[in-house]
Amino acid sequence: MGFKPANNIQDLQYFGEFGGVNPSISDATTFTFTSAKTMSDTFEGNSEGCHLYARHTTPSNLYLGEALAAMEGTETATVFGSGMGAITAVLMQLCAAGDHIVSSRTIYGGTYAFLKNFAPKLNIKTSFVDITRLDRVETAITPNTKVLYCEAVSNPLLEVADIKKLSALAKKYNLKLVVDNTFSPLSISPNELGADIVIHSLTKFINGSSDTIGGVVCGTQDMIDSLRSVIDGAGMLFGSTMDSRPASSILKNLRTLHIRMKQHSTNALYLAEKFENDGITAVYPGLESHPSHELFKSMMNTEYGFGGMLSIDVGRLENANALMELMQEKNLGYLAVSLGFYKTLFSAPGSSTSSEIPEDEQKAMGLSHGLIRFSIGLDNDIERTYQEMKACMKTVGVLS
Ligand SMILES: *Cc1c(COP(=O)(O)O)cnc(C)c1O
Repeated sequence: MGFKPANNIQDLQYFGEFGGVNPSISDATTFTFTSAKTMSDTFEGNSEGCHLYARHTTPSNLYLGEALAAMEGTETATVFGSGMGAITAVLMQLCAAGDHIVSSRTIYGGTYAFLKNFAPKLNIKTSFVDITRLDRVETAITPNTKVLYCEAVSNPLLEVADIKKLSALAKKYNLKLVVDNTFSPLSISPNELGADIVIHSLTKFINGSSDTIGGVVCGTQDMIDSLRSVIDGAGMLFGSTMDSRPASSILKNLRTLHIRMKQHSTNALYLAEKFENDGITAVYPGLESHPSHELFKSMMNTEYGFGGMLSIDVGRLENANALMELMQEKNLGYLAVSLGFYKTLFSAPGSSTSSEIPEDEQKAMGLSHGLIRFSIGLDNDIERTYQEMKACMKTVGVLS
């Protein structure tokens, strides 16, 4: 594949109005018009380059959106106040009462809770399927299905979606394939593989400093215009908009994403191989033992690796808790949800980020209580980290 997401970002230049090397932060929620006619045209959405009101667009948000569209190879993009703000806006834009969604069953807990508990109140129903079983995906499609929803690499089990094949299914049944690419920025480019809409929580790897919440929807100009429509756009009307200051801050962090992703991936692969070698059950798409290893390889932009997310199974919740507490005490990382930070973060998804998923369903999808999800940090000396983690595993008795 000749797709070069980091080059595409790097080639975009934006300057401040005094020649600043970063674009100025747009410090206004409303914009003046030199003629009344331009204002009414802008309301109707036909005035290129004019800003109306900050819930619609701001220069800072457009810069960030264009950079993310360049990364994903889509026509354009629009940013949101959070990943959930982006996801809910897209689903509400694509679906009306009576419509149906086919979704992967292993998705972010918040997305799952929205589809399972909230959307049915609007008479939008979802069938949750094992996304790695295309026959099951196809069987779940009904005449009312509008959306096929998945994560490129799923939370927290790191299942990999076959985006090309899912895209073929979506085309066959005239559905929109929506892919949440939060776990695999740069590594996987879903639009290149046939996804219609690509979403990220910017809060994670893309921002990378665990200080700002944000989301993005990347897609065609038509799709993005519909989200921003003042008449019936879910982005515009729900108001889950990003403010200009975070947009400016995230854009600066996006400039180093390629370097960070390489280091996250290198470190995660190093630990996954060592843990597996020690006899610990490790789940990482870069391991040959991972059921989707070959699939990931066939889809990836090789230089960014298999990503920074790694799970291990230490059997019981008590083991997981003891290990996480000890690793935190030894300064190997923080017991915290979220991902993409410079520091390693770990949590036990069964009792935290995936606790929205009922116990029996957790069991059916293979989510064990002893599972620890790691977002591997940018440690310079990963061998030292490994040795110290191994010592912790021995102390709590999950390794002899
Ligand atoms: C965190 C996350 C979200 C939600 O994003 P927020 O920015 O927290 O609203 C969605 N999908 C995935 C895969 C995530 O990890």
